[in-house]
Amino acid sequence: MKTTAGMRSKLLLFAALLVPLLLVPAHAQQTWKQLPAQEKYVKPYEPFRVVGNLYYVGTYDLAVYLITTPQGHMLINTGVNDSAPYIRANIEKLGFKYSDIKLLLATHGHWDHVAAMAQMKRETGARMLMHEDDAALVESGGNVDYRFPDKGRGVVYEPVKVDQRLKEGDKVRLGGTELTVMHHPGHTKGASSFTFKTRDAGRDYNVLIVNMGSINPGVNVNFMPGFTNINEAYLGTLQRQKQLKPDVWVASHAAQFNMHQKRNPGDTYDPNRFVDPDGYGAKIQFYEKLVRAGMARDQAAKKAKDM
Ligand SMILES: [Zn+2]
Ligand SMILES: [Zn+2]
Repeated sequence: MKTTAGMRSKLLLFAALLVPLLLVPAHAQQTWKQLPAQEKYVKPYEPFRVVGNLYYVGTYDLAVYLITTPQGHMLINTGVNDSAPYIRANIEKLGFKYSDIKLLLATHGHWDHVAAMAQMKRETGARMLMHEDDAALVESGGNVDYRFPDKGRGVVYEPVKVDQRLKEGDKVRLGGTELTVMHHPGHTKGASSFTFKTRDAGRDYNVLIVNMGSINPGVNVNFMPGFTNINEAYLGTLQRQKQLKPDVWVASHAAQFNMHQKRNPGDTYDPNRFVDPDGYGAKIQFYEKLVRAGMARDQAAKKAKDM
């Protein structure tokens, strides 16, 4: 191809403009819709040891769990966008190394629990594991959401690539700790809880990190076009959660496991403050009532419409 001097200079100019664009990492070029965070989502809270090798490194209400092992650590959940430096500082306050995080997991793919996951994955080089039914949600930055089946929700956090898709009953092992994955759909399609055993002062504790069946605004628990068996999902999850008998249980939000009633800032380490089988049963009952009330309300509304 023959090029004139004019064309050549245009091509050179074009190439010169392109180079800086190529040098900017892909994630920095993208923007996502920042959802407004409630104050309690970003309000700091001191990191603390829950029981054995389980630590709380989240904010006042957004629970983030660090499970330490001699072969590196697992991290379950993040906070909202930009929470990575905060979580990192909390991990370091406890005397652990951020770069020792080897596995990243989440209880479900909503922005308030995974928005900083992509950044943390990039910074630590850890692998991301997610239930297969929420993998599309996190890989789309929250856009593929059953509440918005037609156009999507919009990208509300940095998309994160899932390295391993989890299923009910899968075991996640690291440094002598073995998590069992429980699929607890309803709140999202791939909502998950994790259970594991930890030892402290000669005693074994069955620990449950549970994703409660809370209901977001705009969700009809009987039927959603984007999640047609949502009613069975919620009821089945409640049924299975009722049968669990954890010694220590915690959840995706601090309020869901009454953290602020059980612990005050400055309190010394005492795993017994989180041994609460009655509180667990009561909380599952609370969510069952909510789900059943939602079903009755939606059925009544449908009947009225059909008449
Ligand atoms: Zn959620
Ligand atoms: Zn949440």
